Amino acid sequence: MRRLAVLGYPVDHSRSPAMHNAAFAALGIDGEWSYEAIEVPPGRLEQQVREMPGQGFVGANVTAPHKGAALAVSDRRSEAAREIGAANTLSFQDGEVRADNTDAEGLLRALPGSPAGRRALVLGAGGAARAVVWALTREGAEVAVWNRTPERAAQLCAELGGEVVEAPAAGEYELIVNSTSAGLRGEDPFEALPLSRDWFGYSQTVVDLVYGDRQSKILEVAGEAGATVVDGLEVLVRQGAASFRIWTGLEPPLDEMRRGARGE
Ligand code: NAP
Repeated sequence: MRRLAVLGYPVDHSRSPAMHNAAFAALGIDGEWSYEAIEVPPGRLEQQVREMPGQGFVGANVTAPHKGAALAVSDRRSEAAREIGAANTLSFQDGEVRADNTDAEGLLRALPGSPAGRRALVLGAGGAARAVVWALTREGAEVAVWNRTPERAAQLCAELGGEVVEAPAAGEYELIVNSTSAGLRGEDPFEALPLSRDWFGYSQTVVDLVYGDRQSKILEVAGEAGATVVDGLEVLVRQGAASFRIWTGLEPPLDEMRRGARGE
């Protein structure tokens, strides 16, 4: 059995085991591959990763708060992981730990079209926003970054590109990506973020990385106004699919992964 896992703290909410196990079943390889969730307390990632190859693990996804530590523990790093400064995918091969970041690819693949030349507004300056800004600037989008703490946005733009915006204006952006955790704990994202309910329209694509059991308030309002909406679960599925390709070398069955992630 080739074992995989998602490492996080907490991790019991993760949709990744259901998503990847659905993919293994769809391809008829669930007798050879398995995926589980392992809770790893802060400060324990390195020890956990060092033990895994001896226990039959061939790789892992890494989620909060360990993405920076995952990069630090690796022997080889993809360009995306190195430049974003975080890894969400580890592979254990020939005694080495290889680090990748598939959050950036996941975002790009979840978009309905190329962001090249588009005016994009990224909300947030945490780990998720770093992958989003890296992906969008590399693809040739014109990226503006707003963050509750503006100094963090300035730091992010200095490292990865994009321009800080303190008061984004309505209608200026063709692509809006919420990469903050506003809304995660039930707070009203329209109070926490510089978005207004009458901002959205047909020509926009709106992405909300926050996901839960119901559609986020931002996507609800944007969708009603005619915008194209992309939810956090689709981005999760696309990053998972990219990790799946790295580990197995197989084409991921996206529909089954979507159903697994959505608990269907
Ligand atoms: P993080 O590093 O902790 O960053 C959190 C970001 O949210 C910071 O920019 C923070 O601003 C901002 N923020 C938090 N609460 C806020 C509020 N009430 N009002 C305004 N801004 C607020 O977290 P992360 O790893 O980047 O993750 C961010 C979100 O993306 C989480 O909900 C996570 O679940 C989601 N995510 C989804 C995927 C996916 O595949 N769908 C992948 C990665 C992450 P300050 O700098 O001012 O604190």
